[in-house]
Amino acid sequence: MDNETVSRNFIEQIIDKDISEGHCREVHTRFPPEPNGYLHIGHAKSILLNYGLAQKYNGKFNLRFDDTNPTKERSEFVEAIEEDIRWLGADWEDRLFFASDYFGQMYEAAVKLIRKGKAYVSDLTAEEIKAYRGTLTEPGKDDPYRERGIEENLALFEDMKNGVVEDGAKVLRAKIDMASSNINMRDPVIYRVAHMHHHRTGDAWCIYPMYDFAHPIEDAIEGITHSICTLEFEDHRPLYDWVVRELEYEMPPQQIEFAKLYLTNVVTGKRYIKRLVEEGIVDGWDDPRLVSIAALRRRGFTPESLKMFVDLCGVAKANSSVDYAMLEYCIREDLKLKKPRRMAVLDPVKVIIDNYPEGKTEYLDAVNNPENAMLGSRKVPFTRELYIEREDFMEEPPKKYFRMFPGNEVRLMNAYFVKCSRFEKDAGGKVTEIHCTYDPASRGGNSPDGRKVKGTIHWVSAEHAVRAKVRLYQNIVDEEKGVYNEDGSLNLNPDSLTVLDNCVLEESLAGARAYDSFQFVRQGFFCVDVKDSAPDHLVFNRIVSLKSSFKLPVS
Ligand code: ATP
Ligand code: MG
Repeated sequence: MDNETVSRNFIEQIIDKDISEGHCREVHTRFPPEPNGYLHIGHAKSILLNYGLAQKYNGKFNLRFDDTNPTKERSEFVEAIEEDIRWLGADWEDRLFFASDYFGQMYEAAVKLIRKGKAYVSDLTAEEIKAYRGTLTEPGKDDPYRERGIEENLALFEDMKNGVVEDGAKVLRAKIDMASSNINMRDPVIYRVAHMHHHRTGDAWCIYPMYDFAHPIEDAIEGITHSICTLEFEDHRPLYDWVVRELEYEMPPQQIEFAKLYLTNVVTGKRYIKRLVEEGIVDGWDDPRLVSIAALRRRGFTPESLKMFVDLCGVAKANSSVDYAMLEYCIREDLKLKKPRRMAVLDPVKVIIDNYPEGKTEYLDAVNNPENAMLGSRKVPFTRELYIEREDFMEEPPKKYFRMFPGNEVRLMNAYFVKCSRFEKDAGGKVTEIHCTYDPASRGGNSPDGRKVKGTIHWVSAEHAVRAKVRLYQNIVDEEKGVYNEDGSLNLNPDSLTVLDNCVLEESLAGARAYDSFQFVRQGFFCVDVKDSAPDHLVFNRIVSLKSSFKLPVS
């Protein structure tokens, strides 16, 4: 694609117009997470979108914690969120902000509205406010305290702030329009009393602003030009605009909504991930089966692969779901040329080469990545006793089975041609060892005399094998039946985790460290687990298998 034909997404079109009409001097975006959980792939989309726009337009990008609701917010989440955003490559430089730093300004803003006759203190209970609010088809009823005088409102709001009012006994409401067709405009509550300890402001405040009031103020204070949020806030936009207008900000920010990112058969909502964590169904927020950013990192996804994914998804104005296979496609594409290939046997069975000298070790050359010569080559030890995958041997092979079976000759990858002569089984009929003879003239896996073999299998020297645990994953929710059961519970896939305890790896993997990743030939891409792996006890997670029927949609 050349530059002329790259189409601008709808947000870029809005920004272009704002710039050309002189409404925006410098593009300024933000990512405003609430520190009440870990970030997930949907947030990654929002982060990369906001950061990407700031970069593209040579503007600024803020990270702002939207910590106005102390009930669920914790410092633990603040740190985790920062780590995730940094890892994704979005750089907020010195622009890290906390909404709680603006509590003083928000309080002043509320006082300003009261003085303008645009806000009032109400004594209605939460239930009464709900009952007075009306429905989508019926207008609301005026609050009996709506016409309270300005002085009285100021005094009562002061009382709320000073801690003389009990939780829930009074609220501050914006005075807008109880008959509005938009329920959000029917005198929304903008401040409530809550005697709660806040993770940053401690006990300094016992009144807290509501999201719809706080968010536009935060944006305005920071000079945000384009406040990008998800579609569910579309109906809140008139309130956003009302707040910035009534508070008379000179260059008011503009809210723009885009569609949330949903993945098929994956739990994305913070609420649901939290449930899996709290019910102990997964091993924490970073369990590799989840799509939190921490989990994707632990599983072995790269920032580049997530960026590719988000770019492929595009920015839309209508909700839709993206196939999980597209995420897998992106990580495969990213790792394919970058990562060395290694031989690892996940379900080993012993092979003995009867005509190979006992006690001998030979080091054979193996190319690290046939598609990328830059990755060079390595030496792999070859010995009389080896392991191969159990599924690479069959006593009675079906047609078109080209791997090892009695009488058949195959190539051991990077090594020799071997021919199976016999095998042994235990009482249960399980194959315990396979005997072969090798052809010394086929060293390197090349045909000595034009002889053809149809199968090439990977192997690991028994003497030099590195033992490891390998974990294979499937989607945590059931592919066939959908994410939720009728009663709202999660439809869990009982096979989402398979642990293989007796895997053997080639010697070169001995020093593998957390986050190192490799292609295990024929098995997929694997990453060393950051929590459970140790030098003498390696644990690998499968990032993704090699094969997929996924095709990029042609646009
Ligand atoms: P969740 O819906 O998972 O609980 P949230 O919206 O409550 O997430 P916040 O911390 O409030 O989480 O969100 C921070 C920002 O991330 C918001 O601007 C929000 O619109 C955006 N965001 C959240 N989920 C998605 C998603 N699935 N796709 C794109 N952006 C998202
Ligand atoms: Mg939220």
